[in-house]
Amino acid sequence: MKKQIYMFDMDGTLLDLAYDELIWNTVVPNELVKHHPMQPEKIKQKLHQQYTEYQNTLSWYSTTFWSNTLQIDILQLHRLHALHIQPRAGCYELLAELNRRGHECWIVTNADLANLNLKLENTLLRPYFKHIISSESIGYPKEHEQFWHHVMAKYPFSVKESVFIDDTYRVLNQAEQYGFQHVWMISQPSSQSEMKTQLPYPSINALTDLIPFISRLS
Ligand SMILES: [Mg+2]
Repeated sequence: MKKQIYMFDMDGTLLDLAYDELIWNTVVPNELVKHHPMQPEKIKQKLHQQYTEYQNTLSWYSTTFWSNTLQIDILQLHRLHALHIQPRAGCYELLAELNRRGHECWIVTNADLANLNLKLENTLLRPYFKHIISSESIGYPKEHEQFWHHVMAKYPFSVKESVFIDDTYRVLNQAEQYGFQHVWMISQPSSQSEMKTQLPYPSINALTDLIPFISRLS
């Protein structure tokens, strides 16, 4: 059987997005409320505007950017809640199975290096991966058309034979445009949100749902 590369997004794919939702939708607004004499609803509105403004840019994924913009220590808030970082169903089982069959696993994440390291320190992910790539070190987020060109220059791989799994439509769409032929979408990135239906790409929920397809993808 041919050895392949399986590239995984991290937040919402390998790890439960409920953690990041907790940080950005609850912990950060609550922290801002402590520091500002404004109505909590006003603070949340303003924060939501800022989130929308920077979506799909490297800034959005930068803990330094948000610490500077909001004047609170985002990384410290992450550390305080790190026990909520959890793998999604079937995560380690799928990674172990791919490694056992000799396939290469990579993480390809928009998380910045600080956030990535925090997640790696609080999970058992690291040993399964040959490469762990943050878009911060690539210089473009995964949604940007330059992203995969720069990954390819640094880490040459066969785009036609590799498999890419992510929970974000724009990211999968960019990968498809670059030439990926095997892309999979996560149907329930957060355990605290509804399962998505009618997805534009083949989808899985538990990561082990991919196992029956491994031999067929080769
Ligand atoms: Mg994601």
